[in-house]
Amino acid sequence: DWLASPDGVGFLAGQAVPPGADPIATAYAGHQFGNFVPQLGDGRAILLGEVVDRQGQRRDLQLKGAGPTPFSRRGDGRAALGPVLREYIVSEAMAALDIPTTRALAAVLSGDRVQRETMLPGAVLTRVASSHIRIGTFQFFAARDDRDAVRALADHVIARHYPQVATDAYPYRALLAQVIARQAALVARWMHIGFIHGVMNTDNMSIAGETIDYGPCAFMDAYDPATVFSSIDQNGRYAYANQPRIALWNLTRLAECLLPLFDDDQTKAIEIAKEQLATFSPAFDAAYTQGMRAKVGLSGAEGDDLVGGFLQLLGQDEVDFILAFRRLCDAADGDASDLRTMFAEPAAIDAWLDAWRKRRNDGSPNGAALRRINPAFIPRNHRIEAVITAAVRGDYAPFEELNAVLARPYEDQPQFAAYAEPPRPEQRVLQTFCGT
Ligand code: AMP
Ligand code: MG
Repeated sequence: DWLASPDGVGFLAGQAVPPGADPIATAYAGHQFGNFVPQLGDGRAILLGEVVDRQGQRRDLQLKGAGPTPFSRRGDGRAALGPVLREYIVSEAMAALDIPTTRALAAVLSGDRVQRETMLPGAVLTRVASSHIRIGTFQFFAARDDRDAVRALADHVIARHYPQVATDAYPYRALLAQVIARQAALVARWMHIGFIHGVMNTDNMSIAGETIDYGPCAFMDAYDPATVFSSIDQNGRYAYANQPRIALWNLTRLAECLLPLFDDDQTKAIEIAKEQLATFSPAFDAAYTQGMRAKVGLSGAEGDDLVGGFLQLLGQDEVDFILAFRRLCDAADGDASDLRTMFAEPAAIDAWLDAWRKRRNDGSPNGAALRRINPAFIPRNHRIEAVITAAVRGDYAPFEELNAVLARPYEDQPQFAAYAEPPRPEQRVLQTFCGT
């Protein structure tokens, strides 16, 4: 209620510092598309402080787009309404899909207009995160060879996010192991849902394993491992299927920062880092495979060739990734007709369905159980674009409606069935922009 009051809205718009708060902009470095930049920092975000939530969890509160900071460089420190709404919609949808993510508490118009390619309404997003510490935060101090700061940051991260490793004989290796495990699990979840982050720079990777910094992110419609939406990702570095590899690349950059904490002998330190980094791929593969088996409703390794076979068929016929798995849920109840019609040539899917039915047994999940794993609703690009276009005109009803639908992604919501549909050819969004 207070947040909706004039004082509360003023606070959300960055017009007044809340009592007791001592806002900061944080410094960080990062590899942007593989190139190291020794100083980035919060150029359009201000960290108001920390609050402890009702579950006792400490959270950061950050305003994104509230104005210039010492790190704004040539930027204006502001955000346009479109990217703010995009982050709001997608981060809240990710939370509803049970994927670790920063949250959006509020989006407010700033009242200013910001200059991008055209003049656009300015807005401020209030972001809630477990913390805003990034791989790039470690890189900032490591690049300056400030070992004491790297150690202090590592100790802070352990205390805040990984207290279980504090008493480990080798807490810093254990810290790296934990970050690797969370990142592997996170990216596996992205893959299950067709999420493409779009800018997996090391400064956009949370040390706590939450999805952070929603820019030109997008969900894949038709299944294609090479899918890229981001207009700035010319070479497909951050394409859908590259995400696990890039996560490991980023974690390797983190490990480099931590080397001095592993051992004074650099050769030994590198061995330790390599040992930890070698756990990423098995952890990712296990999480990815387990989730994909669950999506087709088969447990155990006997489902794996069927998972691969299904994806291959989706790729061949450019079938919608999310909708195909949702319709497979109907097939589990005996009705494969809607699934079959998605394929140009039904013979191949019929053969696949035959094999699938044979593998299923009395213990296999029914349609209702599978629908709790395969969502009907994801924030599709064409829907997000339509919502933003309406909002820029001053109509927020589509935004409210889309968020309401996405809050219950696993439930059939017959009155909103259209939101589950893939874009028609003329509705397809081929490129997304970071809007910075
Ligand atoms: P991103 O790719 O959105 O994570 O941003 C990369 C870097 O650019 C970060 O350090 C941001 O703070 C900075 N940045 C992005 N947009 C702006 C802006 N409008 N004004 C100032 N800095 C910005
Ligand atoms: Mg960023």
